[in-house]
Amino acid sequence: MNAMHHKQPVLIAGGGIAGLCAALGLVRAGVPVRVLEQAAELREVGAAVSLAPNATRALDSLGIGQALRDASNWPQRAAMKHYQSGAEMVAYPMGSSMEQRWGAPYLQLLRADLHTVLVDALHALDPTALHLGARVQGIQQHGEGVEVQTAAGTFRGGCLIGADGVRSAVRAALYGDGAPDFTGYVAWRGVVPVENLRNPDFKPDTAVFLGPQRTLLRYRVRGHRAVNVVAFARVEGWAEEGWSLPADLDELRAAFAGWHEEADDMIEGLCLSGAFKWGLFGRAELPRWQQGRVSLIGDAAHPMLPFLGQGAAMAIEDAVLVARALARGPDVESALACYERIRHPRATLTVKRADAHGLRIHQHLVTASATDPVPRDDFAEFDFDAATTPLDA
Ligand SMILES: Cc1cc2nc3c(=O)[nH]c(=O)nc-3n(C[C@H](O)[C@H](O)[C@H](O)COP(=O)(O)OP(=O)(O)OC[C@H]3O[C@@H](n4cnc5c(N)ncnc54)[C@H](O)[C@@H]3O)c2cc1C
Repeated sequence: MNAMHHKQPVLIAGGGIAGLCAALGLVRAGVPVRVLEQAAELREVGAAVSLAPNATRALDSLGIGQALRDASNWPQRAAMKHYQSGAEMVAYPMGSSMEQRWGAPYLQLLRADLHTVLVDALHALDPTALHLGARVQGIQQHGEGVEVQTAAGTFRGGCLIGADGVRSAVRAALYGDGAPDFTGYVAWRGVVPVENLRNPDFKPDTAVFLGPQRTLLRYRVRGHRAVNVVAFARVEGWAEEGWSLPADLDELRAAFAGWHEEADDMIEGLCLSGAFKWGLFGRAELPRWQQGRVSLIGDAAHPMLPFLGQGAAMAIEDAVLVARALARGPDVESALACYERIRHPRATLTVKRADAHGLRIHQHLVTASATDPVPRDDFAEFDFDAATTPLDA
């Protein structure tokens, strides 16, 4: 089997970052796809996203490099700062020095803008690929293919890729492993227009403030006219209804009371601009993703904490790899096995590294001695090239 021999379309549950990237990779290889997205209209929420060089390299292979760069900010320098003094504890260059070292840039952009770039690119290649209002409700596999029941009718295909996020219906149908688990972290996030800040000229453009059991990340988006702000806290439990809700501003201010004026400016900017409080949820590792003609990619397969900024990156890498494997064949089941053989170890390791980094940065000022090095990211994920890594290795 090669791309020309996919008689039935590849079905993809979920039109988020993972699903759209997989669809683009497949359509570019000549494989027909149907993306089944539950939302009735296209809209991506959740503030902004950082794309490390491994993510931008993979997105470049999908032919959207220029549109992506046009929509992004290129951060020039990043620092970890002390939550009370505001002093830089460690700093490193980004911009061209990262691009020279890894051959692809580190970019930051609004999730809505990334989503638009992906949807436009898919639409230009196949205006019929994306089906909205198609919430996946049931799945049956049989000898020759897969049948998927959705709110918009039944779809038949040669295989199904579950790209439907941390609350994946496809994962539930395959493994029935219940609701996701609260990780012990909450995040308040929002995009703050620079006019809502007391000091819009802050430097550097990317910073993480480290405090005891709390961190605050900020970086510029949209041509420097806005700032993405994410404030994290370790907490005992998640007692709220649902997993994302408008922030209680008194609670947010209290959680970051006494922080340096630059961090306080971000918190007040969030309060002024509107912020949501998110519970961060994860899942135990799945030993296998594939069952026959169905497999999982992105958060559906391996949700991870955001502390390495690699959740979307891993979803994009998965998407590029699963598309390459399916386009090559020789048949759907061995292609999905090939994808899993390459992706499972890397994604599983990154989940563990994100957990460990989260603990280190939230505990540093609680348990570390004054001489312990500041726990900065070692960028170990950045080298991987999803577009060229050998499928047979
Ligand atoms: C606070 C925070 C900050 C983050 N920052 C970064 C970052 O800087 N860099 C980074 O790389 N990652 C980051 N991440 C992680 C990143 O957002 C996720 O890993 C990424 O969005 C996963 O993409 P996905 O397509 O797998 O899932 P999702 O983005 O969740 O998309 C799933 C899609 O499936 C649809 N869907 C769900 N159920 C169904 C169904 N039954 N039928 C049909 N459709 C369905 C949904 O509507 C959605 O469109 C962050 C996460 C958080 C929480």
